[in-house]
Amino acid sequence: MPFQHAADHTCAPQPQRRLLALLPALMLGAASLAGAAELSVADAERHAQGTYREYFEFLSLPNDAISPEDIRKNVDWAEQAFRKRGFKTQQLANNGKPMLYAELANSDAARKTVLFYMHLDGQPVIPTQWAQKSPWTPVLKRKTAQGGWEEIDSAQLFSGPLDPEWRVFGRASADDKGPIMMMLATIDALKARGEQPAVNVKVILDSEEEKGSPSISQVMQANRELLRTDAIVIHDGPMHATNLPTLIFGNRGAADAKLTVYGAKVPLHSGHYGNYAPNPAQRLANLLASMKNDQGKVTVPGYYDHVKISQADRKIMAAVPDDQAALQRRLGIAHADKVGANYQEAMQYPSLNVRGMASAAVGDKVANIVPDKAEAELDLRTTPDSSAAYLGKRIEEHIVRQGYHLVKGAPTDEERSRYDKLATFSYQSEGADAAGSPIDSAVGKWAYKSLTDSFGASPAPVRIRMMGGTVPTAEIVGVLQVPFAIIPLVNADNNQHAANENLRMGNYVNGVRTIHSLLTHPL
Ligand SMILES: [Zn+2]
Repeated sequence: MPFQHAADHTCAPQPQRRLLALLPALMLGAASLAGAAELSVADAERHAQGTYREYFEFLSLPNDAISPEDIRKNVDWAEQAFRKRGFKTQQLANNGKPMLYAELANSDAARKTVLFYMHLDGQPVIPTQWAQKSPWTPVLKRKTAQGGWEEIDSAQLFSGPLDPEWRVFGRASADDKGPIMMMLATIDALKARGEQPAVNVKVILDSEEEKGSPSISQVMQANRELLRTDAIVIHDGPMHATNLPTLIFGNRGAADAKLTVYGAKVPLHSGHYGNYAPNPAQRLANLLASMKNDQGKVTVPGYYDHVKISQADRKIMAAVPDDQAALQRRLGIAHADKVGANYQEAMQYPSLNVRGMASAAVGDKVANIVPDKAEAELDLRTTPDSSAAYLGKRIEEHIVRQGYHLVKGAPTDEERSRYDKLATFSYQSEGADAAGSPIDSAVGKWAYKSLTDSFGASPAPVRIRMMGGTVPTAEIVGVLQVPFAIIPLVNADNNQHAANENLRMGNYVNGVRTIHSLLTHPL
């Protein structure tokens, strides 16, 4: 902190010294206007440590949403934990698997409101794959010299000095009970410091995120008034691999598509009919080749027409510290596709991906035949501006332009006699749409300032405009229609969804610092 240094500096001339001496007061004044001073690492660690027993208790409750009874135990537990910290709570009905709503008391109409989304359910477990007694019995581990993990006495976690490299292993330790606990520890810190939050705090804990949040939209719709907010923050998923503070502003959606090209009515002898009966496998290959070039760019007209990326966004994406050389080595590819200038930019475009192709005679079925049909399974990653319906329509038009007549299912004899090229094309959304929020929205700027105030501007927080994979953000934010930011808090190597899921304890502490900073900056 430069001002402390300046205030101690006694050799400055008198007037300058007076001015410098005033600086701490001025800066503190500014800080208290903004809400409060940032939480020091030591303070965050102390308040984090104060919640570690509860964290272990929470992790010992099985939370696979296949069991409504287990979910209810988790909701009851979380309700108590929020209540005892001064939250008003309500269980939101959801087919026997309630979600929890919690609102910090003393909300003020003069302040903006932020709804924090987290989830208390977890992925199913296969206990035998875990290197501990049970995925529901959390354990503390430290890294061995050989790079493995050894269990140590978890009592060390509850009192005494902490090591940020220690990790707690257990189902949902990172995804997503860790962030819920970081929120609770942050509230403890606010109370201990006598701070008022600079935003009104609402929390919703989903109970079926790992099942794709099938009912979050309905629950949000049914409780629209209660959940009314100016912004949504989602604490879920892993941080950037560098473990730098991370902000994510959207994700692609997913759709399935299937393309079948028809040949003769039955498979034919390739000696007697080769050069005579058109080959549908060959035609399918040609058709697919007409859709995408060797550089990976989709050549279907209009496919990328809705993609708009500003210069400012391009700069932010280029600044993401992805190690692309290492990535390409890991993947075993000499060059990436040329869709975007870098990994991040490539994720901003809708994709057209061939998942697989099949025709009559491959593998153990190989025979000298001309197949009767050939099929390709595709998936389309969608973006907020390029929906499954938009992309599907562009592909359909393209197929027709290549001379195909589209049929629904196997063609009739009449269709066979009339049309040379016959195909079936179908597509449907996988139920998860794309979502996006501008990086420079009020919530984007607020989150960025909060993170740079607490963690510094260099290196800057990682800002991801849109991540490639699909998570249910659209379902979460769709009903309330407000800007959002995904602010992940857990280490990228947390084995999320797999065996030996874990949370790095340094991330728990930094999570408390992050949420504290968000809560004490006005939106
Ligand atoms: Zn999650």
